[in-house]
Amino acid sequence: MYNMLHSNIKTENILIARNTRPTCMRILVYNFLAKQHAALSITEIEKHFQHADRITIYRTLKTFEEKGFIHSIQEDNITKYTLCGSACSEQSHYDQHLHFYCKACKQTTCKTDIAIPQNNIKGFKIDDITFFARGICENCNNSTMQ
Ligand SMILES: [Zn+2]
Ligand SMILES: [Zn+2]
Ligand SMILES: [Zn+2]
Repeated sequence: MYNMLHSNIKTENILIARNTRPTCMRILVYNFLAKQHAALSITEIEKHFQHADRITIYRTLKTFEEKGFIHSIQEDNITKYTLCGSACSEQSHYDQHLHFYCKACKQTTCKTDIAIPQNNIKGFKIDDITFFARGICENCNNSTMQ
């Protein structure tokens, strides 16, 4: 059984460690995102928290992003959010990996083992770089091959 109390205390400590006040909403959103295996849009997150307003959820996500708990993935005009790896901190994100969108299950996942090539372009200063792939994920690919 999922130990709610234990998980809440753990999340509280994770938030406090990065100077983030562990409000009820933040704990709930963090736990929810931690359970997902794919990135979620604000609309999908909102659907799960019917009693919270969009602004509160949005602010929670912004705070989490600033504190290095989550990173966002830009997908056409949708932004999706997912938990960061342990390398991210309050100061910096290290999420320069491939993001994969599956056209069949419509899920976006982090491919942390595939890093963005770090070849510096001479004379250019890069502020932002994305590495995004679309196709059919392993699960969907296997199920169509039977
Ligand atoms: Zn990050
Ligand atoms: Zn898929
Ligand atoms: Zn990612």
